[in-house]
Amino acid sequence: MAAAEMSFLHGQLRERKQRLESVINATPDDASLQALLHEVDSALDRFTTGTYGLCDSCHEAIEKDRLLADPLIRYCLDHLSKHERAALQRDLDLASELQRKLLPPRDLKVDAWETNYHYAPLGAVSGDYCDLYPAKEQLYFMLGDVAGKGVAASMRMTQLHALFRSLIGMGLPLAQIVETINGFFCESGLSGQYATLVCGCAQAGGEVELFNAGHLPVIAVQKGKTQLLESTGFPVGMFRDASFTPVRVQLGDDDMLFLFTDGVSEAEGGNGEYGVDRIVNLLCEKTPCCAGDAVSACLEDLRAFAGSQPGMDDVTLLAIRHAGRDREQGSVDRGQ
Ligand SMILES: [Zn+2]
Repeated sequence: MAAAEMSFLHGQLRERKQRLESVINATPDDASLQALLHEVDSALDRFTTGTYGLCDSCHEAIEKDRLLADPLIRYCLDHLSKHERAALQRDLDLASELQRKLLPPRDLKVDAWETNYHYAPLGAVSGDYCDLYPAKEQLYFMLGDVAGKGVAASMRMTQLHALFRSLIGMGLPLAQIVETINGFFCESGLSGQYATLVCGCAQAGGEVELFNAGHLPVIAVQKGKTQLLESTGFPVGMFRDASFTPVRVQLGDDDMLFLFTDGVSEAEGGNGEYGVDRIVNLLCEKTPCCAGDAVSACLEDLRAFAGSQPGMDDVTLLAIRHAGRDREQGSVDRGQ
């Protein structure tokens, strides 16, 4: 584990020790607090002897995500007791359910826009972020990927969700929202825990303003032709003073934006990586008639490409189609 993370964990343990000691002073007879203090002291001792973060059973490094979530654990996943395993599984199931509940409706329609997405975590929880948020006549869309995997990445994902929805609700311009989130991520994160991100705002007339902060290109399909909207900035959480440049596109009726995470473009098949070009070609050839078609066509092709190769990452796809105002006049249908 990196020195900064070890020092973070050491700080966490010292803080716990202080808090426990002050509570124990007030309630000296509480045996469970004494036991907890003993555990914290023993973890601090392991720092002194250089064995902190190593499994008591096999002496291999304990999984970093788990230590960051609970600095007191002493066993790697392979050496948990049956009881500990069951408790961990219950925790993960709850976290997974909570994360699913943060997802937007599957077939959200807002004014002239219709959308569809596919969100598939590799494990119980995901560091991928996908959200759609209608505000007045606008549709905000967000897709991101937090560096790393597992519980720590999923916690960052839930932060993104809460931050975006709060900041949009305050009526801030999109540029200011991205800058605020970048600042928050820089100040509150662990080093290296940044997120690539696309966020945009679509107007009823087809105008779209979007920011691509270090993410893969967004594919704009306009009158059967495709255009790649490449990243114009660093991922959020990487540099405090980073600036973010907007990209603007005008979509006509039936035009579409297609977004994805690297679990799609970097999926491995028998012939190397799936790749962005393959998605571009697919969208040109198939000319999907709705957002749901675009998502399922890409997913089907990805599965055919990967064959029996196991997925290595979370997979998220998002399609946003300008269905045209005449046909979808003023409708806000929140799907199921
Ligand atoms: Zn072990």
